[in-house]
Formats: sequence, C-alpha cells, structure tokens
Amino acid sequence: MAAIPRTLCTALVKETTVAEKWRNWARQQACVPARVERPADEEQLSAAIKRAAREGLRVRAVGSGHSFTDTCLTDGVMIDQTGMQRVLGVDRATGLVRVEAGVKLHRLTAELHQHGLALENQGDIDTQSLAGALATATHGTGERFRNLSANVVGCRLVTATGDVVEIDEARDPDAWRAARVSVGALGVISSYTLRCVPAFRIHRIDEVRPATEVLVDLDRLVAEHDHFEVMALPHTDKVLTYASQRTDRPAAPPGRLAAWWNDDLLSNAGLGAACHFGRLFPGAVPRVARALTGVIGRYEQLNDSHRVYAHKRRVRFTEMEYAIPRVHAVEALERVRALIVARWIPVLFPIEVRFTAPDDAFLSTAYGRDTAYIAVHQVVRAEYEPFFRAVEAIMDEYEGRPHWGKRHFQSAATLAARYPAWQDFQAVRARLDPHGLFTNDYVARVLGAPAGREA
Ligand SMILES: Cc1cc2nc3c(=O)[nH]c(=O)nc-3n(C[C@H](O)[C@H](O)[C@H](O)COP(=O)(O)OP(=O)(O)OC[C@H]3O[C@@H](n4cnc5c(N)ncnc54)[C@H](O)[C@@H]3O)c2cc1C
Repeated sequence: MAAIPRTLCTALVKETTVAEKWRNWARQQACVPARVERPADEEQLSAAIKRAAREGLRVRAVGSGHSFTDTCLTDGVMIDQTGMQRVLGVDRATGLVRVEAGVKLHRLTAELHQHGLALENQGDIDTQSLAGALATATHGTGERFRNLSANVVGCRLVTATGDVVEIDEARDPDAWRAARVSVGALGVISSYTLRCVPAFRIHRIDEVRPATEVLVDLDRLVAEHDHFEVMALPHTDKVLTYASQRTDRPAAPPGRLAAWWNDDLLSNAGLGAACHFGRLFPGAVPRVARALTGVIGRYEQLNDSHRVYAHKRRVRFTEMEYAIPRVHAVEALERVRALIVARWIPVLFPIEVRFTAPDDAFLSTAYGRDTAYIAVHQVVRAEYEPFFRAVEAIMDEYEGRPHWGKRHFQSAATLAARYPAWQDFQAVRARLDPHGLFTNDYVARVLGAPAGREA
C-alpha cells in the first residue's frame, strides 16, 4: 500500500475531528457536538463562528458546564473558551477591568486580588467561567448587592456573521441590558469590561439556630448583615445561617482542623455519605437529618472576600432555584419545608434562601424587584422530579422566575409574562441573531423560536 504523504496526513488529522462527548458538572446532561472549537483569541472565535455558519451548523458556547439544565447541549459546534482567560487591562483607580470571557472565576478573583481589587459579590462557588456565570444571572446573597451581571460595563460579542459588536450602555442601551444576561442566545461574548471594587475581607459566622427564631426576625437579620443566607435543614426545626460582614480587620482564617472538619468532612464527605445512604434507605432520612444537624457546630472565618465566598462542592447534586419577590420569602420557605414533611421527601440537602437587590438586565431573575432566591437540591441518582415539580408549583404562585442554569419545567409561554422586558430582549435577539444560529433546544424552549426561523 502506498504511503500517505506526511503533509496529507497532517491535513487529514486537522480536518477529521473525533466526536467528543461532553457532560455537565452533575453528569446528567450530555451531548456529542459535531465538533468542539477551542479559540485562543477573538479572531479565532470569529473564524470558528463563520465556519459553523457556512456549514449550516448551530453554535453553542460552553463555560465550565456547571448549569444543571440542557443549556449547553448541541449537535452543532461547541465553543470552549478555556483558551481565552486573559486579564486584558486593569485600571485600579476606576476599578474597570477588561477580561476575556472564558476566565474562570477563581482565576479572575485571584488576579484581581493582586491588583487590590475584588468582585462586588460572588455566589457560593468560583469554578464557573465568567461568561457562563453572567449568562444565567448567577448571584450571591446580600440585599444591597445585585447579581454578578449588574457589574458588566460593556462587552464584545461575536455575532452570527462572525462580526464583533462592541456593546455598552452609551452605544446601545438595549443590547447592553440584553447581553448582560443572555442565556447564550445572542452570540458568543469574547470579553467583558467589569466594574470591580477595592479588595475587602469578610467576617462570616455559620451557626445552627431554631428556624422560628430566625424566620420571625428575617428582615432585620438580612438588613443588618452585608450577606445573609439561610440553609433550612429538612426534616428538622433548625436552620443553618451564614452571616457575613465586610471588614478591614486582618485575616484570621480558621485553623486547619476546623477547616477540614467543616469544609471536607461535614460539607462534603459526610453530606455525600448521608445523601447516598438516604437514597438507598429513604425511610431513614428524617433520622439521618436530625443526626447530621446535631454535629454541625459554629464555624467562623475572617479572610479575603473571594476565599470566604467560595465553597468546595464535591457531592454531585442537581438543583432548582426560584427568584421570587422578597416579601414572600418566609411564606414560600415554610411551604417548601411543610411539603417535604407532608410528602416524606427523602432529601437531606438544605433549602437555600438568599437575597439580592433589583437590577435592570432584561432577563435578570431579579429584574425590577427586591428578590429572594429559594433553592432545593437532590443528590445525583436520587429521584428529583416529583419534588422539584411540587416546589415549582409553589413558586408559580409567586410569579417565580427560575434560575436560567438550574432545573425547571417552564417554557417561553409560561415565562414571558414574568419578565416585564421580555419583548425588549426578543427585539435585541431578532436584531443580533435573526436566524437562530445560537438557538439550541433549551433556548428554543425557554425563549421561543428566533424571529427568522421556526425552531
Ligand atoms: C456546585 C454549584 C454551585 C453553584 N452555585 C451558584 C450560586 O451560588 N449562585 C448562582 O446563581 N448559581 C450557582 N450555580 C449555577 C451556575 O453559576 C450557573 O449555572 C452558571 O451558568 C455556570 O457557569 P458555567 O461557566 O459552568 O456555564 P455553563 O453552564 O457552561 O454555561 C451557562 C450558559 O452560559 C452560556 N455561555 C457560556 N459562555 C458564553 C459566552 N462566551 N458567550 C455567551 N454565552 C456563553 C452557555 O451557552 C450557557 O447558556 C452553581 C452551580 C453548581 C454546579
């Protein structure tokens, strides 16, 4: 057999892409894209999008795959921006930072810290990509702080034609409000300009308290703390609270043993073992829940903000989270707690309650209202759907808006009325991606078909 010339070999290797299976963090969503493109910069990103459009393939960007929904799935071209993580410019005086969209939050916050800067607020992990976190309106807690997307001053978006559009409030206010939380439906963002704040530390105390004592006083507790979070412990009358204040005091991290006990043993190994035991022996869950609650002690940390916000999450789970008007927080939480008891739902993960200020990104879950977020979780391989559907029915009564990256059973038909600026978002989408190059099944389901094409 004639040998294939070396140059042709190289060409074949370049052109033939082995199908790669992609899975999300929870390992419950999977797809085999036609190919995965890994651009190293904006120019390569634009070329990848043009190539896909020419071939009639749809395009989906992926961050760290930490969304629980099918939002990243595609049989077209998947864009992985792991090679686009550079910090492009820092202005310490104004706090404005230009950064490539694929940067992981832990890398970004570590670099910001070296410049004496920080993100204004963060969620409870930092393994997401910046673009992925922003696209789904990822948030932390604190009634004076908005979700992460509120600090986007501008971005550069690669559209369906491969052109790069510079977006900020002055140039195009509607596109700016749409692109901050886009669910990936407008194009692929190559970089952001973020408003950051001077670095700060957080003093946080975690402790178990009687649920009634906390819930009766919730408004005061939320107002008195920079960040306040309630983790209601199912099948018990207790809640675990995370109460944080910003401070200039010197760092005083917890001792090694305390950190290992709390972060490794209790929050991960112990919780994981208990959840899987509960999955196999559901009847034992209430007793296990009470036993677990009994071993959670007070835990105190004082450290740089990015170190305190981020937790290790080694137990794989799936999650649903709803944003509801803050005034309904206690009532809605009480209904979820009662549901778990009444239906004997074998869940050990806490019901998480957080708070944010309103903002104005068209698809932000906190658009135009003081918001409480209520989240339920279930360990992977355990049945979650009947539980989540029952919780969703409660949240529907409060005009709940589901987190775009977490499980829900809504569609564009049920969501449109819950977003006052829904049509404004759709107008920007029709302008930037009229033929739905960036519309996958999830986007078609939750945002509807694009203007120029039936999905
Ligand atoms: C353990 C765990 C803890 C979590 N904690 C929190 C929390 O505290 N608060 C909270 O609000 N959420 C939380 N989440 C949810 C998570 O923040 C969101 O699902 C987030 O979107 C995940 O980021 P990612 O980088 O993994 O994005 P992916 O899940 O990979 O993608 C999310 C979306 O972003 C789009 N996208 C990615 N890159 C681009 C780009 N360059 N341009 C345009 N669109 C793009 C994708 O197409 C997709 O629609 C948590 C999730 C997990 C698994």
